[in-house]
Amino acid sequence: METGRRRMDGIFTIIAGSEVCNARCPFCISKMTQPLGVPLGKPPEVNWRNFHKACHLAQVNGISTVLITGKGEPTLFPSQISDFLVAMNRYDFPLIELQTNGIMMAKKPKEYSQYLKDWYGCGGMTTIAVSIVHYEPEKNRQIYLPYQKDYIDLKALIEFLHGHGLSVRLTCTMLKGFIDSGEEVANLVSFARENKAEQLTIRPVNAPKEEASRNEEVGVLVRRDMMLAEDQIVDIKSMIAGRATLIRTLSYGAQIYDFGGQNLCLSNCLTVEGSSNYVRNFIFFQDGHIRTSWDLPGSIVL
Ligand code: SF4
Repeated sequence: METGRRRMDGIFTIIAGSEVCNARCPFCISKMTQPLGVPLGKPPEVNWRNFHKACHLAQVNGISTVLITGKGEPTLFPSQISDFLVAMNRYDFPLIELQTNGIMMAKKPKEYSQYLKDWYGCGGMTTIAVSIVHYEPEKNRQIYLPYQKDYIDLKALIEFLHGHGLSVRLTCTMLKGFIDSGEEVANLVSFARENKAEQLTIRPVNAPKEEASRNEEVGVLVRRDMMLAEDQIVDIKSMIAGRATLIRTLSYGAQIYDFGGQNLCLSNCLTVEGSSNYVRNFIFFQDGHIRTSWDLPGSIVL
């Protein structure tokens, strides 16, 4: 493994919950990638022995950030998140993040308030990353909750999370017809700043290569109707280059900017290792397997 600054870019990812989700994103990565032991329905028993191996592996590789996420929505199984936090307490990872669509926390604030207190206090959680596709509620509803009349109150959710001492990152998947231009990115940055979201990440929607795709119908739909065209990406990049200050470039190519005081990360999609032998991502699956890629079963480490 390489040493030095680049090691700081690594992420130890924990796949929590199951493939169940309360959202209906048409570009859902779960529908496109192999299940890799993650079931539909109840989450499986966690292989705790291998979980500790994975924590140790992450630490000896200099990884300081843990991301709890899932192939479905992890907050549907909040007690399992608590279990992971308790189990990794002894490793004292500095940054512990949870990726969520935010729906459960927004809809059941009383129930989730207690979890958030525990996760912040004993669990050491630092950041809640809320997935979005736009700053307008109706656009988010069309993607996340097409079967409901309203989307959640995102502004209230950010306040609610801040009220629990947690930092908030908005992670926006950029889709054609949604956030797909320099102007729309600038509007999104304004929204993040107005609502005091500490961080904002934007990344264009992507689909795995055909041969790695589990459901090619979804892959075709994403490639045909949702992926940004090259000129749209160029427009976004040139707007950012003109209006923001580059702070640093991470080893896998993501760029962190200061955009008028707002943190902005322009990211590609997960697990692009390029030619480097640096492992960006260790991914722990509850059945005890550890991989370095979501969509390549052959990236197995254990
Ligand atoms: S929130 Fe995530 S897991 Fe749920 S449908 Fe959307 S992309 Fe899939």
